[in-house]
Amino acid sequence: MISLHDLTKIFPGGVRALDGIDLTVADGEFFALLGPSGCGKTTLLRTIAGLETPTSGKISINDTDVTALPPGNRDLAMVFQDYAIFPHMDVTTNIAYPLRIKKVPRAQRTAKAAEVAARLSLTELLHRRPAELSGGQQQRVALARAIACHPAAFLFDEPLSNLDARLRLEARTFLKRLQRELAVTTVFVTHDQAEALALADRIAVMSHGRMVQVGTPTEIFHRPATTFVASFIGSTPMNLLPARLAGAALHVAGATLPAPAGLTPADHLTYGVRPEYMDLSLTERPDAFPGVISVLENLGTHTLVTLETPGTLIQLVVPEGDEPPIGTPAWAVPRRALIYRDQTLHTP
Ligand code: ATP
Repeated sequence: MISLHDLTKIFPGGVRALDGIDLTVADGEFFALLGPSGCGKTTLLRTIAGLETPTSGKISINDTDVTALPPGNRDLAMVFQDYAIFPHMDVTTNIAYPLRIKKVPRAQRTAKAAEVAARLSLTELLHRRPAELSGGQQQRVALARAIACHPAAFLFDEPLSNLDARLRLEARTFLKRLQRELAVTTVFVTHDQAEALALADRIAVMSHGRMVQVGTPTEIFHRPATTFVASFIGSTPMNLLPARLAGAALHVAGATLPAPAGLTPADHLTYGVRPEYMDLSLTERPDAFPGVISVLENLGTHTLVTLETPGTLIQLVVPEGDEPPIGTPAWAVPRRALIYRDQTLHTP
C-alpha cells in the first residue's frame, strides 16, 4: 500500500508541481497517473521514489513512513521511459544487477534471473546484449530486472512510450497480465488516456499539480467530474456545448431538451455528450441538434461525422456505411448526456 498525505512539491523557481496530494493506492492495485504535459505526473512518481524531496507532506509504503528515506531504502522498483539497461551486459547480468547490488551470491542471482526471464519469455535471449534485442525485448528485460528484486511496489513512467503502435498494444496486454499474476502494487504514469483506461484499476486525472478526479476507468469515462476530465478522456473528445436554462427546458445548439432539477437561469451550463452516444436522424425533431454534415472521417468500423450547426460543431459516430454524404441536412439525437455547472458535473 502506498499512502500520500498532503504532498506538495515547489521547485526552486517557484513552480508548484504538486499541490496537496492525498492518495492511497491499495495492495496489488494497478494505479494510473494521467494528465497533460506538465501536470506533475513525473514529479509525483519521482517523489514517491525518493528522487525528489517533497516540500511538505508525508509518504508511507506499507505503513512505514519513507518520506526521509533515500530511494534505495524504499523497496521500490522503477521502470522509466528510457529503460536504461546496460549495453555492455548480457540479459542475465542485466536482470540480476539489482541482486548484485544487494550482494546476493552469484549462483543464486543467476538462478533468479533465469526464473524471471522464463516468466517473460526471455529464456532464449539470456546471453544476448541489448543491441541484439528488439525494443519490446529490451523493455521486457527492464521489467524482468524490476521484478527480480521482489519490490513492495513498481513505479512505471511511460514504460511503453518507446514502442511502435503495434508493439505497444502487445506490451500493454502483457503488462496487465503480468501485474495481475504478480499482484504487486503499481503506479503507472501515462499521458495516453486509452492506455490508462485499458490498464488501470483506478486512474487519477491530474491538472496543475492536483488530482482533479480519482476513479475506476468506468467512472472516469462515464462520469467525468469536470469539463477538463471530460475533454481529456475518450478517443474522440466529448462534445461540450454551451447551454441555457429557460423554464423547465434546456436550450442547447438549436435543440430543446428537458432540464434536470436543481439548476437556475444564472448558472453557467455546459451540455456534454460523447460522439458515441448520439444517433443521426435525417428528419427534423425538436430534441435533436440540427446541422449540415461537413466532414466524414473513417475510423475503420465506424465513421466520425462532423455536423456544422449554427455557432458550433458537433461530432458523432455512426457505423461505417451509415453516413450520409457531405452537405446533407441532419439532426444529432443525444442518448446519454451530462450537465456541467461552472465546469463541474451537476448531479441533481
Ligand atoms: P510530461 O508528461 O511532459 O512529462 P508531467 O506531468 O510529468 O509532464 P512534470 O515533469 O512532473 O510534469 O512537471 C510538473 C511541473 O514542474 C512542470 O511545470 C515542470 O516544468 C516543472 N518541473 C519539473 N521538474 C522541474 C525542475 N527540476 N525544476 C523546476 N521545475 C520543474
